[in-house]
Parts: sequence; structure tokens; C-alpha cells
Amino acid sequence: MDKKTAKKKIAIIGGGPSGLFMYKRLTEQASADFEITIFERKDYLGAGMPYSAEGANTEHITNVSDNEIPAIYTSIEDWVKIAPKAILKKFDITEEKFNEYKVLPRLFFGEYLSAQFNLLKKAALKKGIKTKVHLNCWVEDVIDFPKENSVAVCVKNKNKAYFDQAVICIGHNWPKKYEGKIPDYFDSPYPPKKLALKLNHTVGIMGSSLTAIDALRTLARKNGKFTDNEDGSYSYSSDSKGFKMVMHSRSGLLPAVRFHLQDSHLGKEETLSKTEIHKSIARNGGFLPLDFVFEKNFKEIFIKKDPAFYEQIKNMDLEAFVGAMMGYREGMEPFDLFKKEYEEAEKSIEKRKSIYWKEALAILSFAMNYPAKYLSAEDMERLQKVLMPLISIVIAFVPQSSCRELLALHEAGVLTIVAVGDDAKVQPLETGGADYHYKINGKKTVKHFDTFIDCIGQPHLSFNDFPFKSLIKNGTLSPARLRFKSSEKGKADMKNNDLVSREEDNTYFLTVPGITINDHFQVVDRNGISNQRIYIMAVPYIGGYNPDYSGIDFCEAASKAVIDSILS
Ligand SMILES: Cc1cc2nc3c(=O)[nH]c(=O)nc-3n(C[C@H](O)[C@H](O)[C@H](O)COP(=O)(O)OP(=O)(O)OC[C@H]3O[C@@H](n4cnc5c(N)ncnc54)[C@H](O)[C@@H]3O)c2cc1C
Repeated sequence: MDKKTAKKKIAIIGGGPSGLFMYKRLTEQASADFEITIFERKDYLGAGMPYSAEGANTEHITNVSDNEIPAIYTSIEDWVKIAPKAILKKFDITEEKFNEYKVLPRLFFGEYLSAQFNLLKKAALKKGIKTKVHLNCWVEDVIDFPKENSVAVCVKNKNKAYFDQAVICIGHNWPKKYEGKIPDYFDSPYPPKKLALKLNHTVGIMGSSLTAIDALRTLARKNGKFTDNEDGSYSYSSDSKGFKMVMHSRSGLLPAVRFHLQDSHLGKEETLSKTEIHKSIARNGGFLPLDFVFEKNFKEIFIKKDPAFYEQIKNMDLEAFVGAMMGYREGMEPFDLFKKEYEEAEKSIEKRKSIYWKEALAILSFAMNYPAKYLSAEDMERLQKVLMPLISIVIAFVPQSSCRELLALHEAGVLTIVAVGDDAKVQPLETGGADYHYKINGKKTVKHFDTFIDCIGQPHLSFNDFPFKSLIKNGTLSPARLRFKSSEKGKADMKNNDLVSREEDNTYFLTVPGITINDHFQVVDRNGISNQRIYIMAVPYIGGYNPDYSGIDFCEAASKAVIDSILS
């Protein structure tokens, strides 16, 4: 084991956006008491999965703009002034043309994130903070040594390296179940270069949100052309008559369109404070009621911000509100609604006026992350079944250019969407592609697709999917679970749900996806003890206790919770 130095030795495992924000938090501290080591499996830092070739082609864009991105070292606008000319040329970006309100090519954003790492590193060096970066370095395991108060990071064919604390930022993972075994079946659209397919048949797409839109943008370009017409319209013509794409979702709804945000950082400070949350937990037998969160973090925000809307919703509970909003969406043909929302969003951007209820829903969604671990199992089931379907549609924030493409594809007769309900099944076929089984008006239907792409987005991964196996084997980690408020409900659910278990004292628990974490993103062991050395910020592995995938703003918020704990 390395000799202990006076400086705290901290490992950041994974050098994507989460690793970058963590590095920023560490290096901006006034005292230079850290020695930081970054392990990254790629040959560069910053871009992570979505903003590198692993997750994007040139046609893929962010759904956030410079003014919405939390501060790193320089803003994108300022970085454009010093960025290498070759990068700016590649993405056709100039200082004069740059607009802080516009979304960006994801690969360009990756270049920016990469550059931020280098800028932070230089600044850290000036402060006397030593940073070691190991690129092309795949961490295979992490081992906790409680007695020695240290953590070992294991890299293939190298000696273990020991640290005082480690922050796991390994990010996205798209497990392959059928891809490679079933011809023309894709478990995800990533990396998008695999979708460079020339097709003369209908492609089945499971999902209708941003991941599906990534696949559409790539396939559309490989099989036809978009044209900006002189009359201001936008159209698509395909190279072959047979090329079509069908999206599938439970409700058959399209995601909502990006609009102007009144508060570009989504007013998170207006939501319940930790003290208020813990007071409510104490008042409610150790559980945080979802209705209380809905009331405080959503409805009450309107009293000041939009009193007329408050009057409409003040007597609605969660179910009634979601029912009304979904009912409105379901009552319209999805592409007509999409067009209407696109026009509304254009106005919102032009007038810089928010569509406030949607903004408030995004605030609520992000604000669910911290309290989710304090919900009862019953309320978590409600959150997942009732609120999340609406949230996932509304907070997609589909960028304007993607809307134009979807509408052009639909108008050209190339793109449709189908509602498959809750019991649909996809059956991958050994001969290739998949059969989609679902019901239309109660009647069983099977549709075959020669090419099929699963585009439901990053799945919540289970505890056993976590790659650092020693942490599982040694009991350093535990599966996340939530207690049932009512034993009767737990008992009833246990009959048909394998995820429900019973303890000796007759309490019932629901296992939720991923690993148990505490408020500081420290892992928690099977005895409920928080680990002071190991933090995890990798969203796919903490989905149960951190249900909102909020991207860059999550990186910022989680790294703040981690640094506060490291410094405490
Ligand atoms: C397709 C896509 C598009 C998105 N677009 C947006 C957007 O426009 N706006 C937004 O706010 N959010 C967006 N997001 C959300 C996204 O989650 C975050 O923006 C961000 O990628 C999270 O960063 P991360 O570092 O946690 O994960 P990742 O980006 O996955 O980075 C993890 C890093 O860890 C490295 N790594 C992994 N395993 C190991 C290992 N064992 N050893 C060493 N290194 C390892 C990887 O190489 C990678 O560099 C998008 C997500 C996806 C999937």
C-alpha cells in the first residue's frame, strides 16, 4: 500500500461529464489538500458516452443550450473564442454566429467538455493540486478496506492503486441481450454508426422519446434527404419507397417540445429544503409522502408564478392532475399535437416566455431525486406508474430541429407512431428482426419488422449488473429497497411481485433498481452503514433512489453533495 501523505488521495473512476464536475468541485476548493487520480477507459476525458462517437454522430444534438448548462470553467460562448479553429470549422460554428440559447451538436459539446477538463487541470496545477490522469485505463474492480480506511482501484495487468476515497463516475451502460446474436436486432441505437443502414423496408422502433429520435435522425439521413424549401417549409424525400419507420410507445404519445425556460437552471432552490423534507419524514412515521412533495414542489409554486393555473389545479391530487394532462394529450392525434406544441414552443422562444406548467414539472422531476429514497414502497409504485409517464413525456424537451425532422418524416409518409399499451411484447427472431405483439382495441395483433431497434433509453440497471464485483461480494454494497407503509399491502403485493420481500419483524420491502446510496451518494452496506470512502454518481446504477435522469444538471447537483461530504 502506498504511504499515506498529508494530502487526501481521491480517485475519480470515469472521466465523462460526472467525473468532470467532480474534478471541478475538488479543484475549486481554496485549500489544495487533494491529490486526484482520474481513470478513464477512453483515450480522452470529458465527452463521456453521449457526447462522443459512442453516443453521437454529427446529426445528433443536445437538448440544452449554453445558458442552461451549469458553470464549469468557461461558458461555451467564451470557449468558442479560444477553441481550435479546426473544431469550429468542423461544426460550422463561429464566434459571431454562436447563440447561447441554441442547442448544440453533441460531438461539439463533447469537445467543449474535453477542453474544460484541460483548463481545470491547468488551473489546479497552478494551485498546487496534483492530478494524475490514466487514459486507456479500464477499471475492473474496486475493493474497500475498512480497517485500513482505504479503497483499492484495480486495473488489468497493473498493481492495485490505493486511495482515501473513490468517486465512481462510470456512467452509461447499454447491455447487449440480443444484438450480435439476432440479425438486424439492436438493443440500443448506440453507437449510432452501426445504424448506417440502407433499407427498403419498415423499421420497428421501440420508444418515442429522445433515444428514438437519435435513431430516426441517423436512419433518415442514410435513406433520404431533408430539404429546406424556399417557401419556408421543410420536407423529406426517401431514396426507396419501402423505407418507413414506426415508433411504438405505451400511450402512443410523442414527447413534448423544448420551449423557453423562465429560469434556465430550473429554479431548484424553490423546492423543499432538506430540513423541510426531514421534518415531514418525522411527522409521517419515517416516510416522505409523495402527495406532500407534489403539493410543495409543484402545485404551490404556481401560487406566485401562475395564479390562474393554480386555480385550475388546486383541488387536484396527483392522479387527477396526471389524468387531466394525459387525457388532453391522448385526445389529440399525436402528430397534430406535436405540431401544435412546436408552434407554441416557437412562440415561447420568440417571446422568451415559458410554458410554465411544463417548466414546473421539470423542476418537480429533478426535485424527486433527493427525496425518492424516503418514499414508501406504495408511493414509489405511484411515482413510477402515475407521475413518471407524464414527466418523461414533458421533460424530453425535444429540440426544434428534431421536431421539424419528425414532422417532415411524418408528412412524407415515412414515420408513424403506434400505441401498444402495457402488455406489449417484443419477440426477437432467430431469422432476424422481431415480432411486436400487442393489442389494438382488445384485438391481438402481431407486426413483423425486418429491422428492430430498442430505443427505450438508458435502462435502470440492477444491483447485480454493477461491474465492480468485489463490492458486491464483500457486502460493501446493498440492493436499494423501500419499506411498505402497510404490511397488508406488502403481503398482497408479494403474491405476484418477486421484488417484494418480508423481514422477520413482518415488515415488507420493495426492491427498486440499483444500489443503496445515502444523501451524499455514499454507498450503503447490507447492514445499513454508509461507507465513508466510496461514492457513486453513475446514474444507471442508482436509478431506484435517484429516478430522474437529468443529465448535466444531475452531474452538478450530485458532485455538490459529494464534495460537501468529502469536506465535512
Ligand atoms: C444519448 C444521450 C444523450 C444525452 N443528451 C443529453 C443532453 O443533451 N443534455 C443533458 O443534460 N443530458 C443529456 N444526457 C444525459 C447524460 O446522462 C449526461 O449528460 C452525462 O453523460 C452523464 O455523464 P457520466 O459521466 O455520468 O456518464 P458517461 O457520459 O457515460 O461517462 C462515463 C465515463 O466513464 C468511463 N468509464 C466507464 N466505465 C469505466 C471503467 N470501468 N473504467 C474507466 N473508465 C470508465 C467512460 O469511458 C466515460 O468516459 C444524454 C444521455 C444520453 C445517453
